[in-house]
Amino acid sequence: MDLTLTDEQRLIVDTVRAFVEKELYPHEDEVERLDEVPPELAGQIRAKAIAAGLYAANMPAELGGGGLDAVSVVLVERELGRASYALQMLVERPSNILQGCNSDQRQRYLIPAIRGERHDCVAMTEPGSGSDIRSMATTATRDGGDYVVNGTKHFISHADVADFVILFAATGTEDTASGPKKKITAFLVDKDSPGLTVTRGPACVSNRGYHQCELSFTDCRVPAANLLGQEGRGFHLMGQWLGATRLTVASTSIGRARRALEAVTEWAATRRQFGQPVGRFQGVGFQLADCATQLEAAELLTLRAAAKCDAGTMTDADAAMAKLYASEMLGRMTDTAVQIFGGMGLMSQFPAERWWRDARVERIWDGTSEIQRHIIARSLLRPYGA
Ligand SMILES: Cc1cc2nc3c(=O)[nH]c(=O)nc-3n(C[C@H](O)[C@H](O)[C@H](O)COP(=O)(O)OP(=O)(O)OC[C@H]3O[C@@H](n4cnc5c(N)ncnc54)[C@H](O)[C@@H]3O)c2cc1C
Repeated sequence: MDLTLTDEQRLIVDTVRAFVEKELYPHEDEVERLDEVPPELAGQIRAKAIAAGLYAANMPAELGGGGLDAVSVVLVERELGRASYALQMLVERPSNILQGCNSDQRQRYLIPAIRGERHDCVAMTEPGSGSDIRSMATTATRDGGDYVVNGTKHFISHADVADFVILFAATGTEDTASGPKKKITAFLVDKDSPGLTVTRGPACVSNRGYHQCELSFTDCRVPAANLLGQEGRGFHLMGQWLGATRLTVASTSIGRARRALEAVTEWAATRRQFGQPVGRFQGVGFQLADCATQLEAAELLTLRAAAKCDAGTMTDADAAMAKLYASEMLGRMTDTAVQIFGGMGLMSQFPAERWWRDARVERIWDGTSEIQRHIIARSLLRPYGA
């Protein structure tokens, strides 16, 4: 498999890297301090990203998006992933699942999202239903031309700044080989819909300035025209895009890890103790060597999965391996970086402690590491009928 970047891909990397360094890095400390991206700054970054042609890189060109292949999307995500989450998410990539919009929904939701006029969030998780998402308690009951939604979602990222919600709710039950299961349906719900309340969730250790929220639905009426895909096929629709989303987590992890490795290597080469750079002590140098090796492995695994995605052969296990390995690699890398920075690694004027905190969530969201292992194990056992 040839993973040599094309000239166009190299240009994409250089362009995104330059944007991240010029437009995002300078604001990281302020966002960290405020736990907020000031709205004026958010608007400026979005406008610059649109002007630079970096917005909606994951969306089809014919709808106004970047029209990139999966390998190029991984490269964009990797470069954006170097910056603080709250800032890099302003260079928006609307949720992939919006590609399931029908023509009317495209005009009302997808195309405005690609243009930066509207912003989406995805609401699946509930207080009682995390990894076991199919056990969700939120219901959508048909009533005339509407569905009536009742229930609570939590941990919903950036719902505070979103304009609409891609909501997953149960619309009845169906018989399956393993017994009756809930039928899950996806909807597009305007955030100002009567009966929907959005409140900021508890402070999170990772990604200051990027908030997760609780969504409460009480007899919230959603027009049937806002059903995304087909009734009862929400899981199927989500499954079509879950692999791409997991590659995004892997790519972000790789970008962050690369930045941490560069910074800690420079530190190890210049910080002197006992008359020599600390990196010359085998105990430190070997840690750097392991970090660099694992980073290369994560990147190869992710690019390989993306290349398979472009070829139409990526499996759930390919995406799960990339997400699992890259997010766990990032956790080890940032922990090692703090250790090699020594006491300075824990001080807030150094970014190492922020990278370490921010890394933690990557092993939890979009399917925990255990769920990724479950997917991989299932794919190994399936041929044996186990
Ligand atoms: C900051 C943040 C932002 C988020 N953003 C969003 C969002 O925008 N939209 C959204 O819908 N969700 C979002 N989530 C939710 C996230 O996807 C869930 O937290 C995640 O899927 C795990 O669910 P849970 O937290 O309920 O843990 P649980 O499912 O309760 O799991 C608890 C523990 O049990 C383990 N476990 C569970 N089942 C198994 C199993 N079968 N085998 C082995 N181990 C298992 C888990 O790995 C975990 O270690 C976000 C979460 C966080 C923390």
